[in-house]
Amino acid sequence: MARYREANCKLCRREGEKLFLKGARCMSSKCAFERRQYAPGQHGQRMRRKVSAYGLQLREKQKVRRTYGLLEKQFHNYYKVADQRPGITGEILIQLLETRLDNMVYRLGFAPSRKAARQLVRHRHVLVGGRIVDIPSFQVKPQHLIKIKDKSKNLDLIHSSLKEVGRGDELPWLRLNKAALEGELLEIPKRSDIPVTANEQLIVELYSK
Ligand code: SF4
Repeated sequence: MARYREANCKLCRREGEKLFLKGARCMSSKCAFERRQYAPGQHGQRMRRKVSAYGLQLREKQKVRRTYGLLEKQFHNYYKVADQRPGITGEILIQLLETRLDNMVYRLGFAPSRKAARQLVRHRHVLVGGRIVDIPSFQVKPQHLIKIKDKSKNLDLIHSSLKEVGRGDELPWLRLNKAALEGELLEIPKRSDIPVTANEQLIVELYSK
């Protein structure tokens, strides 16, 4: 399956903010964005010209897409689904992205980044409702129990992530049982409770042209 293979830190520098793509490193002084707060490349330090409305919409879309680690086509498909549902399209878009299984595993703190969470899922370490699910895009529903498989409970990655990055119990829409390495989506999160700084309305404007 196609996936993004270039340096993650360049993405943060391009978007002009930390996207937290590398787990514990993002919280340390090694974070590339802390050291070089300008866009990558030869012209990265040039004064930026005034950005057009289209440019703002594009940057917002790229930021959210890169935060969740999706390719353009996958991301656009989420927009299409959100657009067909009743309600506020931008909000539904973010809710759909948040309730992907890889994101849930990351939010619960079982992996230090969404990329690592995706690998945990693909490598069949994660159960949903008692069954192995190895599809990172699986949509988690409220009351679904997400659990680390018994045989995988000793994985260092999971324990170091819970220790170093530890989230899960900080979000009101998640319940985490660290001892049992399991968690639950209590309800579809409200937009205001999702810790992603983005103006999703700009994304809707971009795609609805
Ligand atoms: Fe972004 Fe993390 Fe790299 Fe910092 S360390 S630039 S937050 S991916």
